[in-house]
Parts: sequence; structure tokens; C-alpha cells
Amino acid sequence: METKQVINWLQLFTDKVGENKAYLSDLDTPIGDGDHGANMARGTSEMMKSIEEKNPQTPTEVFKLAAMTLISKVGGASGPLYGSAFMGMTKASMQSDDLVSILEGGMSEIQKRGKSEPGEKTMLDTWSRVIESLKDGSLTEEKVKEISEETKEMKATKGRASYLGERSIGHIDPGAMSSSYLFETMIEAGV
Ligand code: ADP
Ligand code: MG
Ligand code: MG
Repeated sequence: METKQVINWLQLFTDKVGENKAYLSDLDTPIGDGDHGANMARGTSEMMKSIEEKNPQTPTEVFKLAAMTLISKVGGASGPLYGSAFMGMTKASMQSDDLVSILEGGMSEIQKRGKSEPGEKTMLDTWSRVIESLKDGSLTEEKVKEISEETKEMKATKGRASYLGERSIGHIDPGAMSSSYLFETMIEAGV
């Protein structure tokens, strides 16, 4: 894993979030408070600013800067969750260069921070199924899209959407969608 590639990945992710800011907030409107696009757009552009300023030299340093800016700038539930994910990736990247191990490090910190499990209609559903597909060699950008869209039929039991119970069914989870942008751009960047 090369530092340049990781920075390019996060830039593509930031661009994708920016382009889909209104869509992410629209997804968050029926089952949340309509701010997921604004939260993520603010956090990711601050993340890129700090990467440009601090000029990190290793993937670990890039992930750490990402974690710190996302925790402090995103706000909402997703800020600490994405921040924890990147902190998990920071730690895992000090032990290993293997993408699966690094993403597993990220996922386990989301679970700890969110006290969540796959199947609860959150970003974790994207993370867990993407990691599964990466392991069996079936991950494509198309597959990532399908994975986030499959949260539509789930009932939310974590986060704001869980207040709606059965009425959360029929809507794609906004955090699952923003995480699908993270993994689509990971593939695009060739990480
Ligand atoms: P808020 O709900 O505070 O407004 P956002 O709208 O930015 O925050 O983010 C909402 C997203 O956060 C949800 O779509 C879901 O994917 C994710 N989320 C919320 N709670 C949890 C949790 N406990 N575990 C994992 N993900 C969660
Ligand atoms: Mg919200
Ligand atoms: Mg909010």
C-alpha cells in the first residue's frame, strides 16, 4: 500500500461525497434528521485540508489524520464512527500492509464505538459485506453498490433510524451508502 495511493483514495472519496451530498442528506431525511450529506461533506473536505497541510509520509499517518479530523469535524453519530474506523485502520496498518486486515481493524472499532452488529441497518452492513467479498475475491464497484442498496429491506435497530422501528424498512441507510462510496473509491484508486 502506497501513501500516494491512499491519499488519492481519500481524495476520490471526498469528491464522491461532495457530488452526492444532497443525495446522502435525502436518504437521511425519512429515517433520520437529514444531515448526513452535510456532515460527511464537511468532514471529508476538512480531512483533505489537513492532509495537504501536514503532508503525511506513510499510510498510517494518513489514516491517523483522517481519524482525527473526522472525529472533530463531522459531528453527529457518523463522525465518531468514521473516526473510530480510521483509528482502527491506523493501528492495523502499523502491524500489517494487508488491506483485509486493515479494513477489519476499522470495522472492529466501529463495532466497539457503535455497540453494533451486522444486520442492524447501519454503515457496518456495508463494511462487513465488503470485507467478506474482498476475502473471497468477488468485490467489484457494482457489488459495493448492491451491498449498500440491500440495507433498504432491513429494519434499523441502531442509530436514529431505529426510533422508526418497522417504518425504517424501505429506505436505504445513509451511512451504508456513504461507506459504499469509501469502498467504490478504494477500488477506483487501486488500493
Ligand atoms: P446523526 O444520526 O447523528 O444525524 P449522521 O446522519 O451523520 O448522524 O449518520 C447516520 C448514520 O450513522 C446512519 O445512517 C448509520 O449508518 C450510522 N450509525 C448510527 N448509529 C450507529 C451505530 N450505533 N453503529 C453503526 N453505525 C451507526
Ligand atoms: Mg443524520
Ligand atoms: Mg444529526
